[in-house]
Amino acid sequence: MRILRTGEVREKGMYMCCTLDVRKDFAVVNASEWYYRYVGSNSYLPITDLIDPEDAAILEETIEKMEEPVEVFTRITNHKDGYRNVYLRLEKSDRTEDGQPLYEVTILDILDLEGRNGQLETNVAKYRYFMTLGTSYYFDYSLKDNKIVIYKYVNEKSIKLVDTDLDSFVEEYTKGEGHSEKLVDQMNAFSSHLKGGSRFFEMDFTSEEGGKYGRCGVKGGVYYKNKGMVTGIFTPDRTNVKEAYYLTEAAKDAGTGLLNKKAATEYAIEKLAEAGDKTMWVIVMDIDDFKNVNDTFGHLFGDQVIRKVAETLQGTIGQRGIVGRFGGDEFFVLLEKVGTREDLKTLLKTITKQLAVAFDPKFKLTTSIGVCQYPVEGTNFGELFGKADKALYIAKEKGKNRHIIYEEKIHGVFTADSMKSQSVAYAVSREKRREMLIDLMSNLYLEGVKYVTERPEVQKTIRDLFDLDGFTVCSEYGRKIVCCNGNYMRDHGDMQQAFEDEAYIKLFGEQGIFVVTTLEKLKAANEHAFEVATELEIGAMIQCMVKKEGRPYVLVNFDVFNRNRKWSNNDIELLGMIGTCIGRMLAS
Ligand code: GH3
Ligand code: MG
Repeated sequence: MRILRTGEVREKGMYMCCTLDVRKDFAVVNASEWYYRYVGSNSYLPITDLIDPEDAAILEETIEKMEEPVEVFTRITNHKDGYRNVYLRLEKSDRTEDGQPLYEVTILDILDLEGRNGQLETNVAKYRYFMTLGTSYYFDYSLKDNKIVIYKYVNEKSIKLVDTDLDSFVEEYTKGEGHSEKLVDQMNAFSSHLKGGSRFFEMDFTSEEGGKYGRCGVKGGVYYKNKGMVTGIFTPDRTNVKEAYYLTEAAKDAGTGLLNKKAATEYAIEKLAEAGDKTMWVIVMDIDDFKNVNDTFGHLFGDQVIRKVAETLQGTIGQRGIVGRFGGDEFFVLLEKVGTREDLKTLLKTITKQLAVAFDPKFKLTTSIGVCQYPVEGTNFGELFGKADKALYIAKEKGKNRHIIYEEKIHGVFTADSMKSQSVAYAVSREKRREMLIDLMSNLYLEGVKYVTERPEVQKTIRDLFDLDGFTVCSEYGRKIVCCNGNYMRDHGDMQQAFEDEAYIKLFGEQGIFVVTTLEKLKAANEHAFEVATELEIGAMIQCMVKKEGRPYVLVNFDVFNRNRKWSNNDIELLGMIGTCIGRMLAS
């Protein structure tokens, strides 16, 4: 007995996916071509003779009283090429032979499933993309429930324009005064093509009045006989179409292909108005420190970063919502098909993690995100967007690289005025930070390190500007606490161990900077440091280490108590700079 491996299956071109009709005794009545090719002259054998005996027994036992389909993972052989692992499903069918019921067996090669799935995904993505490029409308009609759906593709997402039963559609389209008999005839002909399930039909709507879709050609036909699906395409005369702005070619942002601000807003207003009590999320996202990216790597690279963010948002959100670019480095999402907060968080995490490594090792791309939930926190677009935007500012203020989901009981009542003051406050705080840094650096230069170490008010300013709870400088190989600002739970105790722990020192890397976002991460990195931090009730920190003659001499700590902290690149860079500068001055 030999089990085939993936490579062999592929090499031999033996992809397997077949269906068979079997009798109650599992004799094969008819099968897909693949099956005959694989089993060859053994095709007279019942399928139960070709699979594992235990699994055959399960099938034999259940076929008697079978209501639900039975599924087994088993092995099949043609008594020639060894065994193949397969998924096998047995179910009732509506076909008969001489009046006796037949059963349907589906066999899928397990090794092959993965490859097929990947291929399918690629194809779906490809066709969605094709459909996005076109300007036609598509329709699906189901014979079973007489339903017609008409849709268009915008950024790889299908947008439904009609979703109703065929008769109502015909009636809606032809009711009222002024419709020519010709149009009524055409609509009826269209309807009978669909209901008749022809393999192919082609016709024109030549309505002079235009109607909603104007003049257009229609082509279609049955594409899935058993399940009764008819599909087709409307090709409207584009000079004569009245459609929503967001469906037009003009609605796309030139740089990214996403919907522009006007289009995304129109779309969101429309969808929110008809959302009822369904959960939706309004999301605003802004790239952190994008100006630095432009300044450091140039505008062309900046554009590339914007496209990457657009692509990541679009790719992750897919059919679940619409993505727009609101200008500059700001993006907008209306998430229509994510029902729970948990799922929303998973989605945001997926996007954030992808972006974080997108430009590695050049730089770490982070974003700030504000979210507001419909209908819990608001029902109209203006209110929801305002609150999401407020949440975005809060995310920026708290240090960027995070998302905030707006909640009135936490983030306060929202008014347009408070929003304005918030954005001004943010701009001022950004500006203030720049000024303070220039001040700090020049005063350090003029007065020496004591400008910081001997002035609690300067230490407090550093804490305020970076939202820190504690600031401590420890020098002389860990023997002396030079300054300590903030309400620490207890004093630092013996710091020397940190200065001598090789494993700990390694964590600082070339730059001499060690960033801790959560205590769990610290625990994994260094058990002793974790214990000290826990006693001091530190939840997150940035530490800078400066060496003297190859040995750690100064440790500068920027601490946050009892909470996690996602540090933005900017925080890490600036605090790293301040810490290193103080450290070097003490060490020299
Ligand atoms: P913050 O973290 O506070 O968002 O800081 P930031 O530097 O990202 O600041 P802000 O969002 O205010 O600045 C966005 C900058 O993006 C301003 C502008 O120079 C730049 N920008 C806007 N549109 C484009 C573009 O299409 N391409 C490039 N390369 N840069 C752009
Ligand atoms: Mg920005």
